Amino acid sequence: MILFKKKKNKVEPIQKRWKIARNCLDLILECAKSEYPNEFGGFLRVDDDEKDTITEIVILPGTISGDSHAIFRMNMLPIDFAIVGTVHSHPSYSARPSGADLHLFQKHGKIHIISAKPYDEFSWKAYDYMGRGIDVDVI
Ligand SMILES: [Zn+2]
Repeated sequence: MILFKKKKNKVEPIQKRWKIARNCLDLILECAKSEYPNEFGGFLRVDDDEKDTITEIVILPGTISGDSHAIFRMNMLPIDFAIVGTVHSHPSYSARPSGADLHLFQKHGKIHIISAKPYDEFSWKAYDYMGRGIDVDVI
């Protein structure tokens, strides 16, 4: 009799499709713009029913300084299972995750958005926990 099955080395499947509400994306871009040259950071929250649709951002209290890259006060994260990942801005034209970003992605959440200059519809990217780019539909 096998009491304990050996845990298979299963790769977590990537959720096929994420969506983000347009007004939520607009808010992200606005926050990124208004915080520039500092970074803005927050958490992504999905709809209570549509669990693949990001509808809200939870903005962290306090200012995030520009030179300490991507510092999220994770201990301030409310216990909220609708939070699926993070969002932050880069004070540059690159939306590529830094080493610190990747470290953070691996620890928290399934989807991570980075908004880069000029903080428009085309200058943001979404990543999974491994830092692989993922597609997000704006709805
Ligand atoms: Zn970053």
